[in-house]
Amino acid sequence: MSPMQVKEKSIRFIKGIGPKRFEALKRLGIETIRDLCYFFPRRYQDRSLIQTIGELTPEQETTIRGEVLTLGLRPLKNLSLFEMVVGDQTGMITAVWFNQPYLKNQFKIGDQIVISGRVEKYQERLQFSSPEYERVTENENDAVHTGRITPIYPLTEGLAQRSLRVAMKEVVDHYIGSETKEFLPDEIKKRFSFIDLNTALTVLHFPEEMGDISAARRRLIFDEFFIFELILLSKIRLIQMKERAVALERNLEWFNEFVKQLPFQLTPDQEKVIQEIWTNVSTQIPMNRLLQGDVGSGKTMVAAFFLYLTAKQNLQAAFLVPTEILAEQHYQRLKPFFDLFGIHFRLLTGSIEADERQIILSELRTGATSIIIGTHALLQEDVRFKNLSFVVIDEQHRFGVRQRSKLIFRNPRPHVLVMTATPIPRTLGLTLYGDLEISTMKILPKGRKEIKTYWINRERQGEVLEHIKSKIQNSDEQAYILFPIIEENEALDLQAAKQEYECLKNGMFRDLPIGLVHGKLNRKERDDVMQKFYQGKIKVLVATSVIEVGVDNPNVTFMVIENAERFGLSQLHQMRGRIGRGTKESVCFLFGNPTTEEGKKRLRILTKTNDGFVIAEEDLILRGPGEFFGTKQSGLPLFKLGDLICDQELLILAREEAKKILNEDPDLSFPEHKPVVEEMNLRRSLYQSR
Ligand code: ADP
Ligand code: MG
Repeated sequence: MSPMQVKEKSIRFIKGIGPKRFEALKRLGIETIRDLCYFFPRRYQDRSLIQTIGELTPEQETTIRGEVLTLGLRPLKNLSLFEMVVGDQTGMITAVWFNQPYLKNQFKIGDQIVISGRVEKYQERLQFSSPEYERVTENENDAVHTGRITPIYPLTEGLAQRSLRVAMKEVVDHYIGSETKEFLPDEIKKRFSFIDLNTALTVLHFPEEMGDISAARRRLIFDEFFIFELILLSKIRLIQMKERAVALERNLEWFNEFVKQLPFQLTPDQEKVIQEIWTNVSTQIPMNRLLQGDVGSGKTMVAAFFLYLTAKQNLQAAFLVPTEILAEQHYQRLKPFFDLFGIHFRLLTGSIEADERQIILSELRTGATSIIIGTHALLQEDVRFKNLSFVVIDEQHRFGVRQRSKLIFRNPRPHVLVMTATPIPRTLGLTLYGDLEISTMKILPKGRKEIKTYWINRERQGEVLEHIKSKIQNSDEQAYILFPIIEENEALDLQAAKQEYECLKNGMFRDLPIGLVHGKLNRKERDDVMQKFYQGKIKVLVATSVIEVGVDNPNVTFMVIENAERFGLSQLHQMRGRIGRGTKESVCFLFGNPTTEEGKKRLRILTKTNDGFVIAEEDLILRGPGEFFGTKQSGLPLFKLGDLICDQELLILAREEAKKILNEDPDLSFPEHKPVVEEMNLRRSLYQSR
């Protein structure tokens, strides 16, 4: 794939583009005729329907056709006014233009003219004011500005709609086809009924009918995504060819043995995702896969299977989690399980005593420990492995890329599974994490109930707490009161949480056992509270973060989230996901008085849906992709036509097709792929930054 230099013709070849317009176009990034072909109208005006003058009414956008009856220029204060009366069989109408005296020389009485614009009422008469116009010549198909569906282009200073349109017409008539060449393989075109490239370009600039536009857009958007994905994927392939991982066995007996020990059946999604991952890890190409599944969808079990699989082969696996509490909880729940199989499993966090840590480190070096779970403590320099082959990272966004790479960049390279409960809208995942394969779990384990969610104003908080109290007082149900802390405001927030706790303890919940857990407690204190809560000895748990409320307690049926307006949609959804894990109906109350429309919308969405994917999409729409990823400059590629949200289907299609081609012809050397390679080279600079 040596970049072949394709000579592109400069826009200087176009009639009517002198130095001034050349500069103006350059400011829009347009230097070649090909650039112009791909400079698309912002919108269209349908000027194809010609009305008779007699039927005109004020305020309508319309097009008429008639004969020039009178014309003249008259001064008007410090302006000049060019005035023309046009008539057809049904009547007459005046058209005026300000400060364009040269128009006088462009028309003569008796000319046939088409006028498009808004009809105004002026001194009891109808008139057009500065309308678009066009003299009718012999060949009516040549109409550019009126009497047709007219393109409206984005402009810049020094560039007028009319002159640009004239230039575009010339480009479309004479250069499409020589400056732009069909490159899509016939087979793809046929299979998806894509129209021809040059037809699509022509239609998008000068459509005959509004109805033609969508097919043209579909073709061109597909092109954008397709070429983008080809560039991206071939780059990744290059990297993958260099790196090697250890292939894990596809041993079904091990799988059956594992499943037999589970207290439940795998959900169809868990099975599907295990297959997807397995396909990857059974090759030497290092896997880099994102597993996204709503809170409670059972991601941990999927991860556990591959930890187990790795250990079965006497290789090592690591499970990196963001907090100590999570690490401890996972450890405790997985330990008995791995014990059943005689797999040596260890926990490494910052709280582990120095002596014990030394033992763990040496076990990792010798390979005596097969599976290690831990926090950032796993990333320290002196943590060495014998043969680390599989890495799971929970909640990836909490680890920086550099931190992660400490675990990953080694030889052979481990397969990597990243898990997240904040689903990344599929399209964004594909483009931003182009090198990441994505697995998705949508089906929750059986028996999960919808969580009812209500948004409550501060005034009604008392009522709600009364209600919760009456429900849990004489049952085994429990409640969380989340008093979330935001980092910027940690000290004050913690203060507020403690106050709230004291206030509830001595007030409303005086007769109920209530506990408080927050990040500043030491391990012993924390374990103590959590233990009591799991045993039901604490009925109401005030907590400062989701993580602290723990993974699982099916008896918790109520959740209150204070200051809900401070949090993003996905965050709130995750907090809420900690309830609804048993068979009883669960209810979540969002307390908050948002001041912005967006804030209100967020809370409203949560009351309407439990679907994490819908929520993630809404979040994306509300906040924009940059914020969604916590980085304003997310490096989103610039697609001219394609929209990551509206055109997802096409993006997914394009990616599949790009993959197929690369599977067949990894270095794109087949003769029939030559046009595609040329197109990639022409567009490569658009995506250079990636
Ligand atoms: P998350 O995807 O949020 O990490 P977890 O892996 O913590 O979810 O699973 C949530 C709960 O669902 C756990 O208690 C787990 O044991 C349980 N679980 C996982 N898979 C299944 C299943 N197939 N059927 C029933 N319960 C399951
Ligand atoms: Mg989890």
